[in-house]
This record gives sequence, C-alpha cells and structure tokens, in this order.
Amino acid sequence: MNTLIVTCPECSEDLEIPESDWLEFAEGDVLVCDSCDTELLVVSLSPPEFEVLGDLSICPKCETEFDLTDADLEHHRATCPSCGFAFTLET
Ligand SMILES: [Zn+2]
Ligand SMILES: [Zn+2]
Repeated sequence: MNTLIVTCPECSEDLEIPESDWLEFAEGDVLVCDSCDTELLVVSLSPPEFEVLGDLSICPKCETEFDLTDADLEHHRATCPSCGFAFTLET
C-alpha cells in the first residue's frame, strides 16, 4: 500500500498517511499533525496542499468549526457555539 508523506508546515514532522485514508479525504477536510496537533486544512488533494488552521478549533462532539477567542487560547478551554460542548484545547 502506498503511503503519502505530508510534511507538517508547523513542526516539519513527516506525517505518514496511508493511501486508503488519503482517498477518503476531501478538500476542506482537516488533518491533525500527530506531532504538534496543528490542524491542517486540506486545500488540494493532488498535489496535496495544506494550510495551517490558525485560531480555529473543531468541536470534538459535533465537529463544528469555530474561531477561538483570545480568552479561549489563554485558558486552553473552548466552548462549541453550536452544541455548547466545553473542552480543553490541546497545545
Ligand atoms: Zn506538526
Ligand atoms: Zn459542538
């Protein structure tokens, strides 16, 4: 099986993504770096291109994407605006 190597733009770590997983990705999906937990938005599938998501988080419960406030970042806590789920941000 082919493995796609994606270099994290944030920590320069190589992420190995099995082709079978990659085939399920779509533009607009988010990949999380195993090494630094940076969220990478898939902007293009071929060639693979990513964009680092800045102060954006995804609710682990309902998967809504939302912007983090400075207060969220400071306290490493965020509350999903959609379902109200509060969770700890990984740093
Ligand atoms: Zn990384
Ligand atoms: Zn939610």
